[in-house]
Amino acid sequence: MTAISSLLDRLINELSPLEIITESSQLAKLSLDYFHFSPILEAQLKDKRALLVVRPTTEVEVIQVVRTCVKYRVPLTVRGAGTGNYGQCIPLEGGVVLDTTKMNQIRSLKAGSACVEPGVKMASFDKKAREIGWELRMAPSTYRTATIGGFIGGGSVGMGSINYGQLRDRGNLTAVRVVTLEDEPQVIELRGDEVQKVNHAYGTNGIITELEIPLAPAYPWAELIVVFDDFLTAAQFGQALGNSDGIVKKMVSIHAWPIPSYFTALQNYLPSGKSCALLMVSEYDQTALSDLVQDYQGEITYSKAATEANKGTSILEFTWNHTTLHARSIDPNLTYLQTFYFTLERVEQMYHHFGDEAMIHLEFLKFAGKVIPAGLQLIRFTTENRLNEIIQYHEEHGAGIANPHTYIMEDGGRKVIDPIQLAFKEKVDPYGLMNPGKMRAWLER
Ligand SMILES: Cc1cc2nc3c(=O)[nH]c(=O)nc-3n(C[C@H](O)[C@H](O)[C@H](O)COP(=O)(O)OP(=O)(O)OC[C@H]3O[C@@H](n4cnc5c(N)ncnc54)[C@H](O)[C@@H]3O)c2cc1C
Repeated sequence: MTAISSLLDRLINELSPLEIITESSQLAKLSLDYFHFSPILEAQLKDKRALLVVRPTTEVEVIQVVRTCVKYRVPLTVRGAGTGNYGQCIPLEGGVVLDTTKMNQIRSLKAGSACVEPGVKMASFDKKAREIGWELRMAPSTYRTATIGGFIGGGSVGMGSINYGQLRDRGNLTAVRVVTLEDEPQVIELRGDEVQKVNHAYGTNGIITELEIPLAPAYPWAELIVVFDDFLTAAQFGQALGNSDGIVKKMVSIHAWPIPSYFTALQNYLPSGKSCALLMVSEYDQTALSDLVQDYQGEITYSKAATEANKGTSILEFTWNHTTLHARSIDPNLTYLQTFYFTLERVEQMYHHFGDEAMIHLEFLKFAGKVIPAGLQLIRFTTENRLNEIIQYHEEHGAGIANPHTYIMEDGGRKVIDPIQLAFKEKVDPYGLMNPGKMRAWLER
């Protein structure tokens, strides 16, 4: 018997009677995420596999998993729906993957706030919250499948960010319960600023078993497509809509031609050669929106009433990183970047500088109180060197890049080591078992 198979037997024995998965095709599926959007990560991560996957249903069962991993010093990587883009939930050193999807209870729901287990799916949560007139403040375009715990662990922005900014903005996460990986596991509650110790920590700083989240008032959101003769006018329209305080909106997503040509299911509404805006705007503000569209010589080619929201595909699933998904399904050589342009002048400069090599896709969001253009531009990938040159050019010209071609947490968005997260990790994960290899601060301490 090899050391690995004897370890596997011991783990299975200790974890019994929890749901355990060891079948190889299931293990492959549950060990990976959407890392393959990046040709760099594809090469680095495609062969990584967990030894087993376990699906606890309660916090008590999570503690059983933790005790086992600590006892045998086995790495433990938490996974929600596995829709992350940077290999966040890929177990670099094998070990146990803890799948939270069976921890899916809404514990409480009231005006303005809710308390949920981490595996609650965002869209199914919203369906319940809307019954009392509320909804999530923000959600990624993977809303239908992603979990709330996974969004906090690995996500950052999405529809609603035009009003509420980024997940990391103070107030967008109220409190969390976290199970630690100490010899004697503890359950800690973090509230207020303390939540930043685990917010966007890729599951390196304890297992979130419960979250208290603030909610937003729900509006009847109409979905619209507006087309424009040229991209820069579409971008100006996007900024003007973002700045129009009297028009209540949830999403302003702008796509330079030829990106609309990749949206196969929307071709009836996307005339060849035109750039487009994909919008979610309150149904109460349609007249004001039409007037603004006229100001920019746009044409509304598609409008779906809020009452139809559950019918067919949502326009959301063509925005944020779904744009990349659709484009790559037609041209797998495309990859992407994530950019804070901050100003339309910078968007224009990059548009002219890179031309067709970086097709611009903008998402407007609130940043330090102002609506700014950010983007997930599509890049025609040639070599890693060229990709790095493109990143460098953006950074040298004042744009902020959240690099989606690295699985190291700090090298992606933040770029600097967070001493608070490191100090917290030293306390809650003294053996460095949680999602090892992802936190630079820990690797270099
Ligand atoms: C097509 C596409 C579109 C996307 N659009 C967006 C977007 O608009 N905005 C955005 O921010 N992201 C986006 N993403 C990335 C991703 O879908 C979201 O961040 C999503 O919310 C992740 O949720 P998940 O349940 O899939 O998490 P996972 O991918 O399973 O996990 C994400 C991270 O969180 C950690 N984690 C999960 N659960 C816990 C827990 N209970 N405790 C501690 N750590 C935990 C994991 O270890 C991992 O590091 C997109 C991805 C794709 C493929």
